[in-house]
Amino acid sequence: MTGCSLSPLSAAESAFVFADFLVVPVRIHLLSAKEVPALHTTLVEADIQRILGKVNKVWAAAGIHFSLESVQREEAARQDLYDKEVAKTDLAWVKRHYSEKPRITNAFNVYYIKQFGVNGVYFPEAIFVKDTASLRKVENGLDEPLPRVTSHELGHALSLPHRQNVTNLMASGTSGFALSADEIQRARAAAGNFRWIKPAGTLFAEAGRHFDQGQKAEALKIYQSLALLPLDSPELTQVRQRLKAGAGR
Ligand SMILES: [Zn+2]
Repeated sequence: MTGCSLSPLSAAESAFVFADFLVVPVRIHLLSAKEVPALHTTLVEADIQRILGKVNKVWAAAGIHFSLESVQREEAARQDLYDKEVAKTDLAWVKRHYSEKPRITNAFNVYYIKQFGVNGVYFPEAIFVKDTASLRKVENGLDEPLPRVTSHELGHALSLPHRQNVTNLMASGTSGFALSADEIQRARAAAGNFRWIKPAGTLFAEAGRHFDQGQKAEALKIYQSLALLPLDSPELTQVRQRLKAGAGR
């Protein structure tokens, strides 16, 4: 067996400690389309868990963690327009297929659709990624396209431009996922401009206050956003213990 693999990061390899990880909520939209199979994603929630797990291994290098706010399955709007618009080079048409449901503004919104002209596209309002994305494999690249494309578009959301070094996350169309020190700094600075992106240390303290005041539901919600951080720390041990105790009730 050859090919690309992503070795799991251990705490020792991450340059960031728990308190400094920035936690970025993401809402995933699985677009359905009764009339147009090309719009209808066949991904399911288990795929999203797997994809996000790999996204978070890529972004752990920057001390950035994407937490799943929710997964929504939504029927696409204006399915009648798809055939006419799919060939357009200006990709703004894809936004017509938002469902009527409002997008939340305190998370990044990522839509999965079956098929369109590029692997993925970033707009300030939303990211679109297609199920059928394919990439040029490079040495030490990521082992599947969807986490790489999702990670790349989230890089744009955090202000990163393209950098055409094939092993880099921000190269176009490759499986590379490296981030330079400069990109790490820039992405973290950009994350700091969103008031809804907070350091794990701040969230942990907030959850602790809720917990101490008996506001268990609020505490557990925050703990859930922290539970999958890809490292070990005393804070995370407490997070996991409290989640386990909370789930047992
Ligand atoms: Zn790009």
